[in-house]
Amino acid sequence: MDILEKALKNGREIQKHRHTIHRNPEIGFYLPETCDYVMKCLEEMGIEHKLCKGKIDEEIRAKFSKAGFPDMEYYTGVVATIGKGKPCIMLRAEMDALPVDEPRGVVNFSSKNPGKMHACGHDAHTAMLISAAKLLKNIETELNGTVKLLFQPGEECGCGADMMIRHGVLEEPHVDAAFSLHVVPNQRGGLITYTPGTMTAAMETFEVNILGKGGHSSLPHLCIDPLVICNQLYTTLNLLATREIDPRETVALTVGKISGGSAANIIPDSAKLSVGCRTFKKEVTEHMQRRIPEVIEHTVKMWKGKYETTHFFTPLTYANPKLCGELIPYMKEVVGEENVEICPSVSGSDDFGYISQQVPGMLVWFGTGDETQPALHNPNMQIDEKWLPYGTAILVNVATRWLAQSTKNGRLNREYI
Ligand SMILES: [Zn+2]
Ligand SMILES: [Zn+2]
Repeated sequence: MDILEKALKNGREIQKHRHTIHRNPEIGFYLPETCDYVMKCLEEMGIEHKLCKGKIDEEIRAKFSKAGFPDMEYYTGVVATIGKGKPCIMLRAEMDALPVDEPRGVVNFSSKNPGKMHACGHDAHTAMLISAAKLLKNIETELNGTVKLLFQPGEECGCGADMMIRHGVLEEPHVDAAFSLHVVPNQRGGLITYTPGTMTAAMETFEVNILGKGGHSSLPHLCIDPLVICNQLYTTLNLLATREIDPRETVALTVGKISGGSAANIIPDSAKLSVGCRTFKKEVTEHMQRRIPEVIEHTVKMWKGKYETTHFFTPLTYANPKLCGELIPYMKEVVGEENVEICPSVSGSDDFGYISQQVPGMLVWFGTGDETQPALHNPNMQIDEKWLPYGTAILVNVATRWLAQSTKNGRLNREYI
């Protein structure tokens, strides 16, 4: 029986996993119940696994709780291995949900946790990987190396993968290649799209709290007006890319939020400004990363204000072109030649970027609906579950075939740049 047939036989079970996870969404870095569920499934299958739990750095903890996430002392993920020896391919699934309220009555397995919902399809990713684990375990003795499974937290925070890397998931055994798929509800079911090279943008956010000196609007000379600072920052930040970046490059910079003040006759004490910047090339990212804080510093100081900045960053995802060339045929074996296409880079971001900066990686978009469906992050988004076994089969086929074709005398016979 081929891999797709086996995966299709497990269709009900994949659905069951997804529904359980969907009913019990958790957000952020700390996902105790979801991790327990994943570990219980792995335990039952006799798969070696461990909980990746650690304390969150105090600065990061404060930053995310200020950004509206629950206060999280710990992060939790799960890593498992099937097979043994070199080489090692890692399959990654995210487990975290979004702070979104799920509308009632859309599905009969809706979220039991108000204000939390799996609106990015990570429930499906986790379910497909659990099911892939089962199929891989059944053929463990035939594997030409190790398949490492990473169930990670905090993708929606933009840096959960980074925490897992710092925890050591790319070592022992060392990961030689990494693969992940992301469902897309408004892409034709079964269609896989990917971009060799830069696949998703790097995303930078600076939240700036500007501290001035409030007072009566008739006495501006005795005040430091934070709204003037906001205004000038808004203009200067928007000019930055147009004057300092090669026009052939792309920078999507948006000051998406400015707030402060209460009445025409009051100069407020403070104001807030949030700027987001998406870029597609390392040098451009680094330029903006250096210049945005400089512009903030100089503009605020020019008007005698003070400020605090909170910075969030997700690097671009780089789909290694050589790895893409190797893995694509294994996906075509599952979904057919006509269902794999190259697409342009997207301006969204994914923290798989952190993994792809460390080891050769590939992320693909996996269609599970059609163009009329609401997009990811929409509370009405839905997944046509008939495609989930295909996702499972893709994960299994990519891992087993890549291992078989990359091994010579128990060593990796491929090189990546
Ligand atoms: Zn998302
Ligand atoms: Zn996602």
